[in-house]
Amino acid sequence: MDRFDVLIVGGGHGGAQAAMALRQQQFEGSIAIVGEEPELPYERPPLSKEYLAGEKPWERMPFRTREAWVERRVELQLGRRVVSVDPGAHRVRTADGAEIGYGSLIWSTGGHPRRLTCEGHDLAGVHTVRCRADVDQMMRELPDVRETVVIGGGYIGLEAASVLTKLGKKVTILEAMDRLLARVAGEPLSRFFEAEHRAHGVDVRLGVTAEAVVGKDGHAAGVRLPDGSVVPAQMVIVGIGIIPAVEPLLAAGAEGGNGVRVDGQCRTSLPDVFAIGDCAEHRSPFAGGDWVRLESVQNAHDQAAVAAKAVMGGTDTYAAVPWFWSNQYDLRLQTVGLSRDHDAVVQRGDRASRSFSLVYLRDGVVIALDCVNAVRDYAQGRALVAGHVRAAPEQLADPSVPLKSLAG
Ligand SMILES: Cc1cc2nc3c(=O)[nH]c(=O)nc-3n(C[C@H](O)[C@H](O)[C@H](O)COP(=O)(O)OP(=O)(O)OC[C@H]3O[C@@H](n4cnc5c(N)ncnc54)[C@H](O)[C@@H]3O)c2cc1C
Repeated sequence: MDRFDVLIVGGGHGGAQAAMALRQQQFEGSIAIVGEEPELPYERPPLSKEYLAGEKPWERMPFRTREAWVERRVELQLGRRVVSVDPGAHRVRTADGAEIGYGSLIWSTGGHPRRLTCEGHDLAGVHTVRCRADVDQMMRELPDVRETVVIGGGYIGLEAASVLTKLGKKVTILEAMDRLLARVAGEPLSRFFEAEHRAHGVDVRLGVTAEAVVGKDGHAAGVRLPDGSVVPAQMVIVGIGIIPAVEPLLAAGAEGGNGVRVDGQCRTSLPDVFAIGDCAEHRSPFAGGDWVRLESVQNAHDQAAVAAKAVMGGTDTYAAVPWFWSNQYDLRLQTVGLSRDHDAVVQRGDRASRSFSLVYLRDGVVIALDCVNAVRDYAQGRALVAGHVRAAPEQLADPSVPLKSLAG
């Protein structure tokens, strides 16, 4: 049986970064990454952006070359899925029946895309966007596609809609809530993106769910709505969130539910088992100490650094300021902080200029900013969020007042 001082399960953003962080901190023990995907660890955000658009070739997606992993003495076991964990014996089992022992285990498995359950959900031409294989399959089909339906108006769905529009496809977005981005952004941002997508010819339908995917010869041909009408589509893209991939850890007794729960050092309730990234739920000072599970590169990277230190006996507590970005058309959205639970939102700059920011407050304290083509606000606003700064709405709204002057 193989045994590694640190075994990392999942070779995505968090897993790859954890291995690198250990080596950067002069960890001398053995490290392996066991990852389900066959590819070298790669960047995920371009999948719904430049990669889908054909603007970024695959060769530029991996974080590092195979030689760089060898040089850093990180063993990659790719195309291999871990199916169970025996925390007492410090051992995992893989789908192909192997057992691998560990000193410390870092669980960084992200999530499985949530799938449709309605009739026709399994027809060819129905896609989720989570990994290279998903997008490669979409790209193979695209030449035969005229019309697409995107189910779910979150970031991934909207990014895909913007790329498909650029590629000349007719796009319809179906969103069950009464606005886009309802889970992650304030209403003014939702309305702004709705208007942008409409201006690019996207048919945005709110408060609508898909009743069935209708097929022809085993392939998607359209999406039926509750009123019986059918929106024609040879491709259906499902962007309705993820389910954290933590079944083996929960089955082994780890605390959790919406992901696996971790403490400030990313430790789960199982001995020597850490969890990071999209699958880890932690208490965040940026959510008033509530449990949150964040889905962002920043969170995966920063938790990887904290877990790597903790494996080596460090006691750093994870308290990094959350940040995120999304690209749609010529718009670059940058977000800092967590806007949920805001009780006021201040607009800074003119939405019509397509360069503006929204500043979110709770009890008069700045908790987040959404900045659209407004990189200065994003850079300066970070200090307001990090410092839990109290600021007057009139000053925040005035673009002639630099945000850094309010940081105190
Ligand atoms: C299309 C798309 C666009 C995105 N755009 C942005 C963006 O613009 N900005 C941003 O900040 N974030 C973005 N994200 C989110 C970001 O990519 C994730 O937050 C980040 O990848 C999380 O890292 P992770 O290591 O937790 O999980 P992942 O990067 O998802 O890696 C998890 C890995 O674990 C593997 N795995 C799962 N279960 C097992 C198992 N049992 N055994 C072995 N391996 C397993 C998976 O196959 C996967 O390779 C995007 C995500 C997607 C899908």
